[in-house]
Amino acid sequence: MYVTPIAAGQSQKSLPPTATAGGDFGARLDAIHSLTRIVISYCTRCGAGVSFIIPAGDSLPRHVCTACGHVHYENPRLVVGCVAEYAGQILLCRRAIEPRLGFWTLPAGFMENGESSAAAARREAWEEARARIIIDAPFAMISVAHINQVHLFYRGRLAAPEYAVGEESLEVALFAPAAIPWTELSFRSVTLCLERYLADRRQGHYTFHEAELEPLVQPPQRQG
Ligand SMILES: [Zn+2]
Repeated sequence: MYVTPIAAGQSQKSLPPTATAGGDFGARLDAIHSLTRIVISYCTRCGAGVSFIIPAGDSLPRHVCTACGHVHYENPRLVVGCVAEYAGQILLCRRAIEPRLGFWTLPAGFMENGESSAAAARREAWEEARARIIIDAPFAMISVAHINQVHLFYRGRLAAPEYAVGEESLEVALFAPAAIPWTELSFRSVTLCLERYLADRRQGHYTFHEAELEPLVQPPQRQG
């Protein structure tokens, strides 16, 4: 299967301006779909070509096989991680892989089929930081619609200060809040999660946070 995410600059449509009064929300949603959709050229079941059409009874265009009729649904992916504490310090990993190689992150990654979200958080902490974490509660859910992702962070703790560099990390460390390398964090969702976490911690009361991240750089807009 040949699958290529459409980069903003390659899109056939431009995102309608958002700053104009009374913007056409429907048109904007259509444009966002065109910017974020995945291109599939061949059927994953039979190898024939596909058409990008709205299947009967559906409301959005999908890649539909011209031979066997298989509909290739593409849906957002869930990234799961955890803010894990030990003795007031927070576990961070410095990424050994792209994107954002060399930047610090909370242990997190794509959920696998067949596992629960809490199991995914525990697995990622083990893979990236060789840490056995105890999950306490869901903490933040952050939609990143322009890249078709939802980031879910738990809060939890390490039973013991035992961790090591996992395969996807260059370095793993516990950071006191004052020592967190804010300018070297990997992703905006990680920054947002840590900010909210530390704010809740200062108040002595944790709540669940939901947020949405917009694109940092707006795609080219329609002229005139
Ligand atoms: Zn097919």
